[in-house]
Amino acid sequence: MDIVVAGGGIGGLTTALALHARGMRVTVLEAVGQIKPLGVGINVQPGAIAELTALGLGDALNATGIRTREHLYLDQAGATLWTEARGLDAGHEHPQYSIHRGELQLLLLDAVRERLGPDAVRTGARVRSFEQTDDGVRVVSDVGEFEAAALVGADGLHSAVRARLHPHQARLSAAGTHMWRGLTEMPQGFLDGRTMMLANDEQTTRLVAYPISARHAEQGTALVNWVCLVPAEVGPAGDVDWERPGRIDDVLPYYGHWDLGVLDIRAMLAGSREILYYPMVDRDPLATWGKGRVTLLGDAAHLMYPIGANGASQAIVDAVTLAAELDKGDGVAAALARYEAVRRPVTTEVVLANRKMHNDQRHVAGRSAGDKAAVLRAITSAYRATVENRP
Ligand SMILES: Cc1cc2nc3c(=O)[nH]c(=O)nc-3n(C[C@H](O)[C@H](O)[C@H](O)COP(=O)(O)OP(=O)(O)OC[C@H]3O[C@@H](n4cnc5c(N)ncnc54)[C@H](O)[C@@H]3O)c2cc1C
Repeated sequence: MDIVVAGGGIGGLTTALALHARGMRVTVLEAVGQIKPLGVGINVQPGAIAELTALGLGDALNATGIRTREHLYLDQAGATLWTEARGLDAGHEHPQYSIHRGELQLLLLDAVRERLGPDAVRTGARVRSFEQTDDGVRVVSDVGEFEAAALVGADGLHSAVRARLHPHQARLSAAGTHMWRGLTEMPQGFLDGRTMMLANDEQTTRLVAYPISARHAEQGTALVNWVCLVPAEVGPAGDVDWERPGRIDDVLPYYGHWDLGVLDIRAMLAGSREILYYPMVDRDPLATWGKGRVTLLGDAAHLMYPIGANGASQAIVDAVTLAAELDKGDGVAAALARYEAVRRPVTTEVVLANRKMHNDQRHVAGRSAGDKAAVLRAITSAYRATVENRP
């Protein structure tokens, strides 16, 4: 069976590996001319790491990312409010990895090219449109037309496949939060080397920072991903782009009154070679994803706030679920319908849980220290119960 995947990001490349592992032929059509390690840090949760490990990528992940041990919640004066064990330390069978998004993408790309061949991923191949026929899909791209048994739209934030399937549906919706993001090398390391720090002040300004590089850790240093989350007026989401540059002078004033003690915030923020700006956005969940032989996957299907660190993980689980359903061999449309029936309700819950956690975390500000601990415990355990289906 020939499958075309639109988009060679985290979800599209995992889909290619999962379909190949089940004996299907795959072509990935990627819009950019050259896949470069773009982005900053992301987290991949234990359930998704279990799937990547089953695809034979456990050692490569371990050589690349950091096995996150704990989430440490602080106030702006550096007082510990709450800690939450993560990954193996929380009793999961697989780690949570904090990892460079672009390095994860290249790790997946290397595996796809090695296993499926050098032509499995076509670059400069933006998908423009598609047409379903009686026995297949014709996919129109910048490098020509492709006939396939199915088309998987894994083409991210501004998915063309999604726009064609749902021309009147769901614009981006703004969270009322600016995000500035960067990567800073810290020669002295970062906390214990395996902790994600989440700090919150009385104006609901937040700072999240965590190390993402095994290579740096081996040398006793840290490559730290940081994200500043600053309240903004809720207006239209506007033009959103993962790679838009930001300015340090726009973000530093929000942290003038902060003193975490353990960390020089000013030096960390100013130490990033590049700063990116991204307003936090998601989309209202769709009532249906696909039609016939065409479906959606990852951000194209269920764009979510990064609060909860679940976007890449959900895309990976989508990919292996889709491959398992197609492998049952009882018809493409039936398989895609079952995939959607399994994944759409779950990912809808995650989109909504991320919104709730974002709002709840902002309302921690203004409470007493004891109250904050209790509220953070309630927020994190409610989120886990929804997303991991366990207390
Ligand atoms: C350049 C870039 C940087 C990012 N940086 C971060 C980050 O720093 N932090 C974070 O949390 N998330 C980041 N993300 C998003 C993150 O990768 C996803 O939220 C998550 O991993 C889900 O993956 P996905 O495969 O659904 O989407 P993505 O990983 O976004 O992949 C979508 C892919 O589809 C391609 N594409 C788009 N339109 C078309 C088309 N019409 N035809 C063919 N291909 C198309 C894109 O070029 C991209 O490679 C970034 C995404 C991109 C593309």
